[in-house]
Amino acid sequence: MKQKKIDSPVQQRFRDKLLTCWPALKGSLARVYKPCIRPHCGVCARGDKHPNYLLSFAEKDRRRCLYVPKAMVPILKRALENGRRIERLLYEMGPALLREYRAQNPAQTGPAVRVKRQRSKSKS
Ligand SMILES: [Zn+2]
Repeated sequence: MKQKKIDSPVQQRFRDKLLTCWPALKGSLARVYKPCIRPHCGVCARGDKHPNYLLSFAEKDRRRCLYVPKAMVPILKRALENGRRIERLLYEMGPALLREYRAQNPAQTGPAVRVKRQRSKSKS
């Protein structure tokens, strides 16, 4: 196996972008309506329920839910968006790694890749 390059430009870009993606998570935030536990609650007495947020996520192949305090909702929304940014970043890494490899190993590119032709005639 080839020796790992510690600080390649692609790796640096990856690390820099990753650091701007905190907080990050994968899961889904859902708003649910539930009755509360307060006695004689006017809202519940009217039949209206209180909005609550739940975060659902997978843990060891099992679906789990956690109650989300209201103050955490905007933070978790940002974390979900950052999770999607990281996912897009990961998709970009395949082509980026291959481009980097090809740039460093021009002689080893496959036969399908054409060698850039030298311009013999200059346009005027
Ligand atoms: Zn209530």
